Amino acid sequence: MATPEAPKVKVAIIGAGLTGLLVAHGLRKNGFDVVIFERERHHGERPRDWSILIHWAMPLFTKLLSEELVASLPEALTNAHLTFDASVESISAYNGSTGELIFTNPTPGARRVSRQRLRALLLRDLQDAGVIRWDKHLAGLEEQGGEDGPVKLTFEDGETYEADYVLGADGVASKLRELLFRGDEVAKPRYSGFYFAMAVARYGDPEKIDAVMKPHPVTAIVFANDCVGGSGVMHAHPPDDKSQWTVFWVKIWRKSILVTPEDATYGQKALDFLRATTKGLAAPFQSFIDWTPDGSDTYINEMRVWASRPFDNRGGRVTLAGDAAHAMLPYRGQGFQHAILDATKYLDALLQIRDAGANRRDVFAAYDKDMVERGEKAVNQSLKEAELSMDLETVGQMTMVKKGHGPEA
Ligand SMILES: Cc1cc2nc3c(=O)[nH]c(=O)nc-3n(C[C@H](O)[C@H](O)[C@H](O)COP(=O)(O)OP(=O)(O)OC[C@H]3O[C@@H](n4cnc5c(N)ncnc54)[C@H](O)[C@@H]3O)c2cc1C
Repeated sequence: MATPEAPKVKVAIIGAGLTGLLVAHGLRKNGFDVVIFERERHHGERPRDWSILIHWAMPLFTKLLSEELVASLPEALTNAHLTFDASVESISAYNGSTGELIFTNPTPGARRVSRQRLRALLLRDLQDAGVIRWDKHLAGLEEQGGEDGPVKLTFEDGETYEADYVLGADGVASKLRELLFRGDEVAKPRYSGFYFAMAVARYGDPEKIDAVMKPHPVTAIVFANDCVGGSGVMHAHPPDDKSQWTVFWVKIWRKSILVTPEDATYGQKALDFLRATTKGLAAPFQSFIDWTPDGSDTYINEMRVWASRPFDNRGGRVTLAGDAAHAMLPYRGQGFQHAILDATKYLDALLQIRDAGANRRDVFAAYDKDMVERGEKAVNQSLKEAELSMDLETVGQMTMVKKGHGPEA
């Protein structure tokens, strides 16, 4: 163990998304000195929310957090007021043309969270402890004093910071990744050719909430020709008044089939576009769209991907995690779960170096190898899932159908 007199190992994390925050919790729990640099000026600057299912990585996730935080997790759940038995801890998928159930996959221990509310929860202690440095947009990376010196970060406002280790958790269009690849084009994410749309609606009617929960109490997936949809409760609050609850529905489709007009990517125009182009689904799924009131939060974007590949990790001092390391499509809900695995492995790597005297270069060569192999496979698989999901004839070939929602590809 590190002696109390030994200076703490300094880790700089770029990005206060779920990955960066989770890594920070794990590192602080284990006595590392952590600072997170985030380009947003405050939490809530980008209000877009979505829901994330955490299942196979749940035990790793909770291990990185304090007991108090784990006890507060219900605050982040889309619906904390369910009896979490095997039927709730599953995902059901339907034929959107006929309304027939196609399959139900078990997801034992799974919980669906709001990305915004989980982020708020993870931020709470870190903000109080002064770990987050808002309004810091990473611009440069330099090695100081050769391969064993610190790494110097430069931000757009001219401020600099030196750290022993730097972790890029800055998402799909990671600046740190770009710097690691020294500006090579291969570091840039690419557009996937698939749109993702999401609306969050308050129906104001308990019976409509019951209708949303009927196909599945947490998440129902719908396959219709040319698109995939999903629906569920977004925020079951207050628990005893369903007229106040919000729901979400999502839709994924190919850009080559239908282009979203440039001025219809968010807000009312996005909702109008989705209403006009989403017709004829079987009951109750069509109603979820038709019941959505004007003014509901609605977004459409073409999803980007980045398949992991090896890079020079600057003598084992700089690496990546989360979407910065592997940006995949949301099929089988794998992105954040791989981020949780990254966070766990990143902490293990630093512990091996600090507490067991392991060689930094060897340890991070192994971290990167695992992350790159796992990430590349998961990204490519998510693209293949997307292709297969667009046609009811090929849905049966999806990994989701053949192998379920586990980590294996
Ligand atoms: C609709 C949808 C559904 C999903 N469903 C699931 C699911 O069911 N299960 C699952 O496991 N995963 C799911 N995912 C994936 C999951 O949401 C992501 O993998 C996860 O949120 C990624 O977090 P991140 O912190 O790596 O990246 P981000 O959330 O993108 O965070 C990156 C942060 O870095 C900051 N940043 C960027 N550039 C800079 C810079 N230059 N300087 C400083 N800061 C910077 C950004 O402002 C941001 O705060 C889903 C994703 C989507 C979009």
